[in-house]
Amino acid sequence: MASPAPDAHRDATPPAPPLLPARASDRFRVLAARALTRRCPYCGASGIFDGYFALKERCPTCGTSFAREDGYFLGAYALNLLVAEVLGLGLALYLIFGTRLSRAPLLWQEAIAISLAVAFPIVFFPFSRTTWMALDLLVDPPAATPERRLRGHEMGRPPDRRS
Ligand SMILES: [Zn+2]
Repeated sequence: MASPAPDAHRDATPPAPPLLPARASDRFRVLAARALTRRCPYCGASGIFDGYFALKERCPTCGTSFAREDGYFLGAYALNLLVAEVLGLGLALYLIFGTRLSRAPLLWQEAIAISLAVAFPIVFFPFSRTTWMALDLLVDPPAATPERRLRGHEMGRPPDRRS
């Protein structure tokens, strides 16, 4: 004999408080800060990575599932490639032409440029994911689309593993 469900009043639960500022400029500032500190773009909590590279499937604080759909993070890979290579190439060009490194042997110049081109995407990888999610939230805030309303409704609920 099971007792009645304690959450019988669940339908009357008010919606979750807004997690992001309504004004676009404030939202941009908050999302940029969260992205650059590798925090959850939805709630701002830390601890969304297992180690340096592996993004957890859900935020441990607000429960939001990060990948909205299959292939969601393809944009993060493109962003990583673009930003890291622009920064890496920019720094390599500066070092080679803007410093005394221009007098170094060509082999050294090539080794430095290649090292930067490899290191930047690795270092920027987790930030590319948080930045991608932040960009997504900036242009498509929660409750702007039916899909986002559904996600907002599901926020804070752990995954249902029954049956
Ligand atoms: Zn969160």
